[in-house]
Amino acid sequence: MPILKVRKYPDPVLKKKALPVKTVGERERGLIEDMIETMKLSEGVGLAATQVGVSKRIIVFNPSCDEWRADALINPVIVKKRGSEKKEEGCLSLPGINGLVNRSTYIRVEGLDIKGKPVCFEAMGLLARICQHEIDHLDGILFIDRLSPVKRFMAKRKLKKELK
Ligand code: ZN
Repeated sequence: MPILKVRKYPDPVLKKKALPVKTVGERERGLIEDMIETMKLSEGVGLAATQVGVSKRIIVFNPSCDEWRADALINPVIVKKRGSEKKEEGCLSLPGINGLVNRSTYIRVEGLDIKGKPVCFEAMGLLARICQHEIDHLDGILFIDRLSPVKRFMAKRKLKKELK
């Protein structure tokens, strides 16, 4: 399985809004397998297709740190959310940067599974946070966009140094 190149800030693809997947076929399934492999090797807990340069609404995630239980969701939509909590986040596209981001503590997500079947699940804690972070990617939003202007400015300055 080929390992995909994770796009780093300020790659313009990260700012693009991804398009919905019309049919889930071999190409999409292959992409998902490669994304999961890439996430695993990068030691990430989530990855969006936009991060590997593909403008399609697909995310993969692995909220369990101890065991490997990765899953994928196609055309994910948050249909319900509740609560809010500020916690530290990082991103494979923003190396060396962390920041406190406010997210809902509970979400209900709908989408398609790897076979193209409609699925719906509820998520709390880390999984809820990962899903919100990855769905943001599909809309061209990075976690630094959710920081205060001062924190964002500092994060971007640090990024420039990291990426030199
Ligand atoms: Zn990210």
